[in-house]
Amino acid sequence: MVNQNLWQSVLTALQAKISKPSFSTWLSGISVRSLDQGTLCLAVPNIFVKEWIQTRMEKDILEVISQFVPDIKKIKYAISQQGGESKNSKKQIALDITQPKIEFLNQKAAGLNPKYTFQNFVVGEFNQLAHACAIATVQRWKGGKNSPSLLKHTYNPLFIYSRVGLGKTHLLEAIGNELVKSKRRLKVKYIPCSNFTSKIIASIRGGNAEVLSEEYQVLDILIIDDIEFLAGKERTQDIFFRIFNSAIERDKQIVLSSDRPPKAIEEIEERIRSRFEGGMIADISTPSFEERLAILETKLNEKEALLPLEILEFIAKHLKDNIRELEGGLIKALIIFEKEKSVAKTIEKLKDIVSAFQKRLSVARILEVVCEFYGLKKEEILSPVRKKELVLARQTAMYFLREKLKLSLPSIGIKMGNKDHTTVRYGCEKIGEKLKKDLEFQKEIEVIEERLEQG
Ligand code: ADP
Ligand code: MG
Repeated sequence: MVNQNLWQSVLTALQAKISKPSFSTWLSGISVRSLDQGTLCLAVPNIFVKEWIQTRMEKDILEVISQFVPDIKKIKYAISQQGGESKNSKKQIALDITQPKIEFLNQKAAGLNPKYTFQNFVVGEFNQLAHACAIATVQRWKGGKNSPSLLKHTYNPLFIYSRVGLGKTHLLEAIGNELVKSKRRLKVKYIPCSNFTSKIIASIRGGNAEVLSEEYQVLDILIIDDIEFLAGKERTQDIFFRIFNSAIERDKQIVLSSDRPPKAIEEIEERIRSRFEGGMIADISTPSFEERLAILETKLNEKEALLPLEILEFIAKHLKDNIRELEGGLIKALIIFEKEKSVAKTIEKLKDIVSAFQKRLSVARILEVVCEFYGLKKEEILSPVRKKELVLARQTAMYFLREKLKLSLPSIGIKMGNKDHTTVRYGCEKIGEKLKKDLEFQKEIEVIEERLEQG
């Protein structure tokens, strides 16, 4: 325990010396195994971490630690079977058993998934701003010396946006989890917007919308994920607007995420959009190769598994757009490698999987599958010609671009051969209506969907 406190202090000092992504990737899974006769023994999760620390950090660690324990001269390493936790920590968990339990209950009550934390969130350039805003928001509520009251107004609401699979939910839940853990009295609620919306609709039907609004009045922190779901739902927007205003007026915190910035959310009331824009907006872009590798390492640690670096590099090189897919690739690689026990064979098999992932989510792939299905050429589907069979195929492609890639209407317009966004909206609506009443057409759409999924 004393050792762990010491290590905490060392970590705090080291934080200033290295970049955040490196810090969370390489240092967060380490603990002190022993400390005696001038030697510090660190439990590290795997050989990669050991090598990294040895080559890049050893000097710094020794320097920092000698400020606390002057006679430390050497560091040795033990690869831990338990993902970096020292064996002693098992006992610790047994003693502290009541505390995690309460935490867990609080997290559940708040609608939070405890697996999403700041500790397992890798920070890099691509998500630095969103992460910094999240931390600042947590600090504000945790209090203490790092909570300048200036932040109060600028970070409320905190609005985080990115394309799918890049960590919005993780970050939002990490804020909630951190606050529930450190400030038990805070009333936190995390809710996906689709649930929020269906609750509001049910309460309107049941005639008790007021009661629902009151439930939200008691919260200190309201976190709503995927707020773009509010689009087009007027009554829900109305009630949301009230809940939102009341929270901001009482200086409570709102955190939101969306797959696009406020100005690109269509069919949302102007007054709501301007509220979103009045807070702090932070985007998450896509991670670089090194950042993807760091994420893979972190996930591997979590799973307490090992994989040769070459395989990790292959995955990081080929799965670029989406961290969820990156994780999917890692899991597949683990399964294949366990069976094949050969780097070359594993990479060979991964090639197919990677190309399936890559194909599935691109505009080109959707156009290709739709054209193939209707027996048309790409030029035909992108042309302005209004023949009946062309129009249907064109609208189907628009519908899939909207549903699968969540592109905005104007950007679908551009990709569909410079069509106006109103044409795109009309097209998507047409397909939506047709799907409701035309069974034959439903089957066609399912076939296209299947082909897209097969990659
Ligand atoms: P989004 O909500 O943007 O669609 P998620 O938050 O669900 O994305 O992230 C998808 C997956 O990727 C999750 O399993 C999440 O834990 C993981 N992930 C995303 N960003 C990071 C990160 N910076 N570090 C570690 N894991 C991440
Ligand atoms: Mg999400």
